[in-house]
Amino acid sequence: MIRTKTVAFSKNSSNIFFHILTKCNLKCRHCYINPGQHGKNTLPLSVITAWLEAFARDSHSKNLIFLGGEPTLHPDLPAAVEYARNLGFGSITIDTNGYLFHDILSKVKPGEVDCFSFSLDGASRETNDRIRGEGSFDTCIAGIRKAKSMGFATSLIFTASSTNIQEADRLPFLLKDLGIDRFFFQIIGLRGRSAKGNQNRNRCQKLQVTKSQWLNTIPPVARRIAEFGITVTYPKVFLGRGENFECAGLVADNYFVFPNGRVYRCPLCEDFALHSLIFKNNRLVPAEKLNESNLFQLNIAEGCVMNKLIQPDNLSYDGAGEPEYKIACCLLKEEIRND
Ligand code: SF4
Ligand code: SF4
Repeated sequence: MIRTKTVAFSKNSSNIFFHILTKCNLKCRHCYINPGQHGKNTLPLSVITAWLEAFARDSHSKNLIFLGGEPTLHPDLPAAVEYARNLGFGSITIDTNGYLFHDILSKVKPGEVDCFSFSLDGASRETNDRIRGEGSFDTCIAGIRKAKSMGFATSLIFTASSTNIQEADRLPFLLKDLGIDRFFFQIIGLRGRSAKGNQNRNRCQKLQVTKSQWLNTIPPVARRIAEFGITVTYPKVFLGRGENFECAGLVADNYFVFPNGRVYRCPLCEDFALHSLIFKNNRLVPAEKLNESNLFQLNIAEGCVMNKLIQPDNLSYDGAGEPEYKIACCLLKEEIRND
């Protein structure tokens, strides 16, 4: 039976999104990496292990996601995976654009890495390569097939925008053919490269999907994918008038770690010096105020404060000036699975 549920925020487990470098071989149009805010450095293994230890100290179960840039460009990624496994991280995921540098698949084992998470932004070569770069579709598909053949679990992320949402209904058969274990829809936002400069900003605002495009496309396609036995997760985005708003910054335990030492609790704050924590001498300490933690306290009728500040075009108001809906925390997800 197909079931959909909203995934409640949990304080009993931590998610650590660890960007070990910001270098990448691709230049995707909507890349959220912002080297001015996140650093351009590649963390040495000694620093990666010290920062992993800082997160390993608490008693929560911990999910670790290695990210970049392209994390497989880091030659010490296998050693970092092994170190994290020995520290007791509950699950370890490697996010990749599919190029799988340094022969990573032969240097880690399925028992060490819970999942390789690939990114495609089109169900066709033409659409994906227009967004992510020539050759990236074929390389990613080949990478997924190779990872599967070597026994790794795989997931796929598709960032929906006005330029690819019309291909979403071609995804179910592609995912089935690839044998993908989990699938994630993301929604494009005004972050990183997308948000830079007025010209780019206008272009990206055109890339954003409307409420009706999102609601008419994503949940039905997610359901069709789930019918193939693939668990699908997608952001809730829009809250009805009766639905409860919560800010993950107050009620969940997420850490977005960047190579310049900044640690954010909210992805929408990552374009600004609003990080609430920072690594100093490999110790994780609170950052100076004002920072994102002050914003989390604000209670506004539109829901997410950062959404209203950086991408207010997705809001709409009735004749009395009241918001017609709230924007959910970007970390609030719907999950649909075939039980
Ligand atoms: S979105 Fe990922 S793969 Fe694309 S340029 Fe940015 S870091 Fe690289
Ligand atoms: S996206 Fe909005 S609601 Fe979620 S953590 Fe950030 S500020 Fe809070």
